[in-house]
Amino acid sequence: MTSAPITPNTSVTDRLVAANEAYAKTFTDPGMDARPVQKVAVVACMDARLDLHAALGLDLGDCHTIRNAGGVVTDDVIRSLTISQRALGTRSVVLIHHTNCGLESLTEDFRHELEREVGQRPSWAVEAFTNAEQDVRQSMQRVRTSPFLVEANDVRGFVFDVHTGLLHEVDPAPAA
Ligand SMILES: [Zn+2]
Repeated sequence: MTSAPITPNTSVTDRLVAANEAYAKTFTDPGMDARPVQKVAVVACMDARLDLHAALGLDLGDCHTIRNAGGVVTDDVIRSLTISQRALGTRSVVLIHHTNCGLESLTEDFRHELEREVGQRPSWAVEAFTNAEQDVRQSMQRVRTSPFLVEANDVRGFVFDVHTGLLHEVDPAPAA
């Protein structure tokens, strides 16, 4: 099936499907294995301004990318990291939060308001934070203390500056 011509009323998803058709025309199967070449898993915020592959010099096939709101290490991120390490051979973990994160403007009130509105309490925490560095530190700690990982100590955390494009590494030791 060929997609309909793009018009001002075309939905964003239709645009993506059309873009994919163009992509596939020049795509050649690199014949890669599913195991990431650089043996690294990157956990990052879903923020639209963060182009992980470009920012870290990563190529197709290099890494696992695990993204969510905030780049927070939740139980589901631990699930992905565990599969990444135990089934697909990665060993290093890189955590990336960023400046001007949407989670800095939220609090756990988001959850309570949601409950009031829809009549059901979400099972998940918002994981809002006011200090990205401190939250990276907490996420590093969650990786280090996970019993499920093969390599829990090769973890480094960073805050990406959305204005300069630079990563700032977070010292894992709590600020004195
Ligand atoms: Zn963010």
